Amino acid sequence: MHTILPHHCALCGAGTLNRLLCAGCDADLSHYRAPACPICALPTPAGQVCGACLQRPPAFDRTLAAFSYHFPLDRLLHAFKYSGNLALIEILAKPLAQLAADHPKPDLLLPMPLHPGRLKERGFNQSLEIAKPISRWLDIPLAADACQRTRDTPSQTGLKWKERRSNVRGAFACDLDLCGKKIAVLDDVMTTGATLNEISRILKNRGASEVSAWVVARTL
Ligand SMILES: [Zn+2]
Ligand SMILES: [Zn+2]
Repeated sequence: MHTILPHHCALCGAGTLNRLLCAGCDADLSHYRAPACPICALPTPAGQVCGACLQRPPAFDRTLAAFSYHFPLDRLLHAFKYSGNLALIEILAKPLAQLAADHPKPDLLLPMPLHPGRLKERGFNQSLEIAKPISRWLDIPLAADACQRTRDTPSQTGLKWKERRSNVRGAFACDLDLCGKKIAVLDDVMTTGATLNEISRILKNRGASEVSAWVVARTL
């Protein structure tokens, strides 16, 4: 772990006044504001439900995405994930919390579980670390251990949607009674949504009445 000096921008190293990012990098961050499908957050011309969600609705009911997954946000997320630089959390978590504050409050906030093997390797679960301040700011109970990742799935990169879906099948276990509960699942990046779909399926099996995907960044 290394600490970033508070007077140097976390991305470009330029001088800042007690800020993590300089004004230029802050302006470059791609806040996601385009009209998008309310279910999967992919852009649609008028913000209507997209064709894919109409044809085969995912197990989650809506997606909130704070950023689109572009430079320089991808670098920030990467730095956070692999350096464990916890100072970056606020930049990642705050816009998502602000977005979520405009939506109905869920009963529980559930960080995407990390497989114990990965957790040991990395030392922390990035989704849990991002969920912690959001849970505090919005006053939503954190369900950190409600679900377990029982199977470590090989990297999803390069897999087609269908392969991704079977790749994550049966990757989660949940013993909690979630009858009638509204759950928000927090993940750092949503790519195809296959992992979020699978965990949402399990949560609905446990009785959850509604599942929202809260993601820091959406791959477009
Ligand atoms: Zn900068
Ligand atoms: Zn959609």
